[in-house]
Amino acid sequence: MNKLKGLIDCHSHTYFSPDSNANPEKMVEKAIELGLEAYAITDHCECNRWFDIDYYKAEPNEHDTYNFGRDFDRSLNKITEMKEIYGDKINLICGIELGQATHDFEIADKAVGDERLDFVIGSMHELPNSPDFCFIKYENYSDSEIDNLLEDYFLELLKLCKWGKFDVLGHLTYTLRYIEGEYGLKIDLSKYEDIIKECFKIIIQNSKGIEVNTSGLRQKYGKPFPDLEYMKMYYNLGGEIITLGSDAHRVGDVGKGIAECKEMLKRVGFKYLAYFKNHKPEFVKID
Ligand SMILES: [Zn+2]
Ligand SMILES: [Zn+2]
Repeated sequence: MNKLKGLIDCHSHTYFSPDSNANPEKMVEKAIELGLEAYAITDHCECNRWFDIDYYKAEPNEHDTYNFGRDFDRSLNKITEMKEIYGDKINLICGIELGQATHDFEIADKAVGDERLDFVIGSMHELPNSPDFCFIKYENYSDSEIDNLLEDYFLELLKLCKWGKFDVLGHLTYTLRYIEGEYGLKIDLSKYEDIIKECFKIIIQNSKGIEVNTSGLRQKYGKPFPDLEYMKMYYNLGGEIITLGSDAHRVGDVGKGIAECKEMLKRVGFKYLAYFKNHKPEFVKID
């Protein structure tokens, strides 16, 4: 089949993430079947909920899950074991999606320092003292409240970029999956462009990269995170390191949208995709 020969998928989840039931072996076998050159498992590690709920003295609610420190260890053990088993068939990358590093730098430092890790995606799913963007009821928000929320989101990303101990910045514009995709509100991001530019400049200076997350293509949003204009902005500022990730939470989504987004990047002018081994980028020519 080898539909995706020479391509990469650097963002996916397994049952070590609370929002996935996917069997890790089945995910890797799918990646091999698709002919991917490199494939990363990047289970969630939310820095603000590393410990058990008692540690935070938090009120239980229906959404929040805790104990990411335990799952972090389980996921990394499993991927390390699978690297041995599948190593001759695929470049299997041991990664994590590190959420909210800015909420607990001590935990974030500890997580990224783990020697089993090849690759860290720095993501932001929620702001301090606020629910995950996916749980916010945007219909109760006025336009100016949405403005403030988005400004706070991009400023938090800037803080994350200044900390900078990730390999790529995850799904920039993630908030639009809900605000535009689910709630159908039209957002003009131009007013945050200076902050986004600043993020890109820091990333480029520090020889880090960004990911293009293809999940939006198969959701109501209908576009990747980030979309074409920010791929161009990154490129025009001199950005060269870019990974592609499906953000698959189930076997059927591995590799989804990768071929389409590769074409978009090619049109922008990118010559290479990157994947990470031991936190160092390896480049794959885009043809
Ligand atoms: Zn994410
Ligand atoms: Zn993810």
